[in-house]
Amino acid sequence: MTTSQVINPATEKVVATFESADVAATDAAIERAHRAAPGWRDMAPGDRARLLRRFAEAVDADLENLARLEVANAGHTIGNARWEAGNVRDVLHYSAGLPERLLGSQIPVAGGIDITFHEPLGVVGIIVPWNFPMPIAAWGFGPALAAGNTVVLKPAELTPLTALRLGELALAAGLPEHVFQVVSGRGSVVGQRFVTHPAVRKVVFTGSTEVGKQIMAGCAEQVKRVTLELGGKSANIVFADADLDKAAATAPYAVFDNAGQDCCARSRILVQRSVFDRFLELLEPAVRGVRVGDPADEATEMGPLISAAHRERVAGFLEPSTKVAFTGTRPEGPGFWFPPTVVLPAGPTDRVLTEEVFGPVVAVLPFTDEADAIRIANDSEYGLSGSIWTSDVGRALRVTRAVEAGNLSVNSHSSVRYWTPFGGFKQSGLGRELGPDAARAFTETKNVFIATDQ
Ligand code: NAP
Ligand code: MG
Repeated sequence: MTTSQVINPATEKVVATFESADVAATDAAIERAHRAAPGWRDMAPGDRARLLRRFAEAVDADLENLARLEVANAGHTIGNARWEAGNVRDVLHYSAGLPERLLGSQIPVAGGIDITFHEPLGVVGIIVPWNFPMPIAAWGFGPALAAGNTVVLKPAELTPLTALRLGELALAAGLPEHVFQVVSGRGSVVGQRFVTHPAVRKVVFTGSTEVGKQIMAGCAEQVKRVTLELGGKSANIVFADADLDKAAATAPYAVFDNAGQDCCARSRILVQRSVFDRFLELLEPAVRGVRVGDPADEATEMGPLISAAHRERVAGFLEPSTKVAFTGTRPEGPGFWFPPTVVLPAGPTDRVLTEEVFGPVVAVLPFTDEADAIRIANDSEYGLSGSIWTSDVGRALRVTRAVEAGNLSVNSHSSVRYWTPFGGFKQSGLGRELGPDAARAFTETKNVFIATDQ
């Protein structure tokens, strides 16, 4: 064990210290989870459901505390942080409805009956990034626990505080010991051990595509199950027949929310050429109007970036030759601030168009017609989310079917609801989280034939 520090990104002050697990501590946690698995698996479905409901209620009772922890640890605005803690509660309540509904099939066969079971996997390892520490954790552990698995959870080293608190709340709510453990530590140590330890039967990873590929390759060694939620470079496509005022007023929030540190950020705005100039005119006041500042202030809409190193990485996308159309504001003084920034890319290979910035930087570019919009939107290795703005319902349907992405919205920017499926096409990921099938992703289907012939 070594001790690590947690820094408040809005003040640059140390807010807490925590213990970083080494390989031995990680192995011990995995082995405890492995021993706890049969008891949890064999518990009556209704009892497992009741405990998850109690866990949800404990989160709800602690909602303001969890939200304040996230403001201090991740610099999230207080409004967002409350939504995030509420999302954990809701995912748990929804998951609590799953144990009694994990239905198998009865399939017609000759000479007997054939039935299927959805068996839990055993220990599930969940690796969480720093951008949405609470929701991303819950999207994994809610359904994994509901399906009868035990969970070891690794938060990002930068943002362990809410995960550690959720671990305490689970115990206080009555979950048996070692059914849900939070193991804080480095990705290359704790996360890597989830990949290599044979008792961990599935890894759920959210983070960079680069590390996601390593996790997938590592899991191949044991044919370990894996769900990956990786990067994005999502398109916000605005057609000339759209409600331009609404499209321009909402576009900043679709990319600058959480300071752009969102895998679903609509970081490419594609605008039909005939309304391109008009759209930029409408976008400018909307971007300048984004309230950037103290995340604890109820009126704030955008906080700081997560760390000094990340701010440097984001700034690296703006080269001296980069054409910046306009920017929003940022506070002076301590904190890892970066203003909302609108860029006009130089050409289709400009890094700001091809790479995930993961900061408040958006590229705006024109397209000619529907086919051109689809071509540009799909000209990316990613395929996570996107938005289509048009008043033509036929076009909305044609374009949503043609865009290669897992989560699309029409005349809006919503990507995530706990009861609808979420995940990426192409290099944005593998598998789906949330929605009615969430628990199935944490099971193996077992087929059993029972002979009835004498
Ligand atoms: P990252 O390295 O992919 O980290 C994500 C999580 O994986 C963290 O918990 C990290 O641990 C862990 N990890 C790192 N290396 C690992 C390994 N070899 N084995 C197992 N686990 C490992 O992401 P990042 O470095 O924080 O961010 C880099 C970029 O990734 C961002 O700028 C952004 O473009 C992208 N990103 C995307 C998402 C998303 O939601 N899709 C989220 C975060 C980042 P520690 O950090 O604690 O060591
Ligand atoms: Mg990393």
